[in-house]
Amino acid sequence: MIPSILPTYNRAPLSFVKGEGSWLIEADGRRFLDLGAGIAVNALGHAHPALVTALTEQAGALWHTSNLYQIPKQQELADRLVAATFADTVFFTNSGTEACELAVKMARKHFHDAGQPARTDIIAFEGAFHGRSSAGIAAAGSEKMTKGFAPLLPGFKHVLWGDHDALLASIDENTAAILIEPVQGEGGIRPLPDHCLKGLRALCDEKGMLLILDEVQCGMGRTGRLFAHEWAGIAPDIMMVAKGIGGGFPLGAVLATEHAASAMTAGTHGSTYGGNPLACAVGCAVMAHVADPEFLAGVARKAGLLRQRLEGLVASHPEVFEAVRGVGLMLGLKCKVLNADMVKAGYDALLTIVSAADNVVRLLPPLTITEDEIAEAVARLDAAATALETA
Ligand SMILES: *Cc1c(COP(=O)(O)O)cnc(C)c1O
Repeated sequence: MIPSILPTYNRAPLSFVKGEGSWLIEADGRRFLDLGAGIAVNALGHAHPALVTALTEQAGALWHTSNLYQIPKQQELADRLVAATFADTVFFTNSGTEACELAVKMARKHFHDAGQPARTDIIAFEGAFHGRSSAGIAAAGSEKMTKGFAPLLPGFKHVLWGDHDALLASIDENTAAILIEPVQGEGGIRPLPDHCLKGLRALCDEKGMLLILDEVQCGMGRTGRLFAHEWAGIAPDIMMVAKGIGGGFPLGAVLATEHAASAMTAGTHGSTYGGNPLACAVGCAVMAHVADPEFLAGVARKAGLLRQRLEGLVASHPEVFEAVRGVGLMLGLKCKVLNADMVKAGYDALLTIVSAADNVVRLLPPLTITEDEIAEAVARLDAAATALETA
């Protein structure tokens, strides 16, 4: 019999009932150190006082009005994002998937209104993840996500990660945009080197294409800059954001330049919930913390410490781990054992980590993790790896 929850997930037998900072408390009272952060969502950890206050104050005042009216907290959050980034304008969604939908629509409408209606193709990359909607799975293109769901949304081409020649060969007069994650998350924590991101920007400029960055996982301070592309000193035309921006409350956004977005006039897109008062009250509180240069410097410093300790961990468990990779607090351990076994050993050591493609386990701790907690996390990873070796 089908379970009452549609069984599209293989869930671990863990029920967390409370969160405190970097810690998750199981129904039986065990305290897990959370290196998953709800898949890079709980940027400020669990039950951060500023977020609890922002949410409960807004909850006592007004929950929802729809986008038929002005929403002061939405305006404030948009202004904060525009002030802190390349963007001139923002549309709020409830998820990363919905941000992908709008990014695709925006790129196509841009060329439609520019008198190039045949220019609809978007080039994306092997190993990518852009969400589970029809556009999201067509954009990512992997058989794992698309099989059985034909007909797929047309207009996407796929290029091997790092295959420069294939990328150039895939561009023609109908190419509208390049869509890429600066650091692939689900794909196994694969960072795009800065010079490649610079090269993509130059290529888009040369061919008049739009550069769409999916920073749903790597954005919002995760790499030690507010957005990962800042490390390369370039800016996209359109950017998808979600996960960390709501700190655990469902919120996403598309950020864009005026040039890219100007065809999106009244009536061309919408969302009932997108940017509602509750979500934006929390989003403003997240931005107030994460966009602070001192906070970001702290992320970079802690990331350096964690990375250094992980290199030591890999060196002392050569049968379990192959290498560390990633940027900032978006780190991956490429495993020699099955990554799923490592995740399970992590649970036994009271630690949550997240698997990814390419036999990687992801470490995506709250950005507020402390140095003591980093030491504890590495000790628990060490215990988990030792248990696998002796199993
Ligand atoms: C999680 C993710 C998405 C999808 O976001 P949802 O909020 O799950 O819809 C899209 N792109 C990337 C890079 C992601 O990590």
